[in-house]
Amino acid sequence: MQFDVHHHGTLVRPSLVLVNSVVAAPGEADALADVAAAGDWFQAVVATLSPGDLGDDLAVDGDGLDALREVRGAVEQILLGRPRASSLAVVNRYETESAPSWGLDLDARGELHVRRRLWGPGVESWLGIVAADCIDLVRDGGRAQVATCATPDCRIVLVPDHHRRRFCCTTCAHRTRQARYQRGREGAPVSR
Ligand SMILES: [Zn+2]
Repeated sequence: MQFDVHHHGTLVRPSLVLVNSVVAAPGEADALADVAAAGDWFQAVVATLSPGDLGDDLAVDGDGLDALREVRGAVEQILLGRPRASSLAVVNRYETESAPSWGLDLDARGELHVRRRLWGPGVESWLGIVAADCIDLVRDGGRAQVATCATPDCRIVLVPDHHRRRFCCTTCAHRTRQARYQRGREGAPVSR
């Protein structure tokens, strides 16, 4: 299956990758519909990261799927809705308990190394990264800019960049301009 993880090659923040999983499966279906789809989608997510970032245990089982859905619901609620204490508790817990960190290590020759410290399987680690990113979005003011793509029938959620991009991708931007041009030619009232 082909998953649109970073939506047409656009690099987006981990919390938005998770929120957009709802339309990331082929045919804009939910990538977290079942364990099999979620497993394939998570492999596509892992492929965009550095090797070893999330360890070796990259499978998605029933518990992993429940965790993905739980955190997606919480992040979506925090970024797009009126935040509830229960959603905050989910994000705070994953940030504290699952976000990977860095630790110092000596090898056999006494050389100093920095080592990735993981606190659970790959899905848990990634959800820790998502939770930390969600907190960063609130902290740096990005939450106020979170928006849905300006193309009417597109449901992709994005943070517009410094070019004030209102579309999730060039395809959407082109499609919308084309439609506006068509309406103009037909003499219909042009909105915006
Ligand atoms: Zn779009």
